[in-house]
Amino acid sequence: MKKSNHTGKRTILYPFITVVALMTALVPAAATAYGTSADSVSHHARVAIIVDDFGNDMRGTEEMFKLPVKITVAVMPFLSTTEKDARRAHELGFDVLVHLPMEPKQGKPEWLGPGAVLTRMSDAEVRKQVEAALDNVPFAVGINNHMGSKVTGDERVMGIVLAVCKERGLFFVDSHTNYRSVAGRMAREIGLPPVENHIFLDDVHTASHVVKQMRLVQERALNQNYCITIGHVGIQGKETAAGIRSGIGEIKDSVEFVGISELVRDEWQWNSKPTLP
Ligand SMILES: [Zn+2]
Repeated sequence: MKKSNHTGKRTILYPFITVVALMTALVPAAATAYGTSADSVSHHARVAIIVDDFGNDMRGTEEMFKLPVKITVAVMPFLSTTEKDARRAHELGFDVLVHLPMEPKQGKPEWLGPGAVLTRMSDAEVRKQVEAALDNVPFAVGINNHMGSKVTGDERVMGIVLAVCKERGLFFVDSHTNYRSVAGRMAREIGLPPVENHIFLDDVHTASHVVKQMRLVQERALNQNYCITIGHVGIQGKETAAGIRSGIGEIKDSVEFVGISELVRDEWQWNSKPTLP
């Protein structure tokens, strides 16, 4: 019984794999046939790698800073290396985001870290938290959420977060921890770009899984012109960094790695105003 099930699955999978493989092979070839050079094709498909959870000297911090392409460094506020990490990222020419802790539907409060935005806060308290976090992380061009499955589904709280972004000339990147997030729609409504994460790189914490995810990133970038992806420093940060590095080696000829602000500028014609140091 088990065996026939397995065989059935394989029969369905093979044509799909063949189609994907064919598409991947055909995309650059077709573009070349229309007179576009291989070089300009590679500049068409762009990838922004955001690395979350900087600011606390977590494992992998050093390895991420040494990656051979431009990444975006998302720094948590009010922690021991918050300012140091933001400065270093800026000096390396990397974009900085405030990685703002936001209340999740599940999870322990201590995972949030200091300065978290909670749904039980008043409007004034939410605004104060967001402004304080922005003031604490120099050079930020925007905010993305740490956890936040509850807050990104809350119209009242997200309205305030996005309003502060707009006032300061920043954008919000929805990390997409909640599939019912209101962030993208609400951003669009007030004239902010609806930026969101497409693929988590390290939902499984091995370098080989991260490499596999990087191949999905490549596929998505080739199909849709760009892909935004998120990895993490942390307990498995070195493994994630190693996987990203290998993945970059594999896909660098077909995609271009850019900072999030460059992608947002070109895809949504939005120019952010970095926060002052
Ligand atoms: Zn995080």
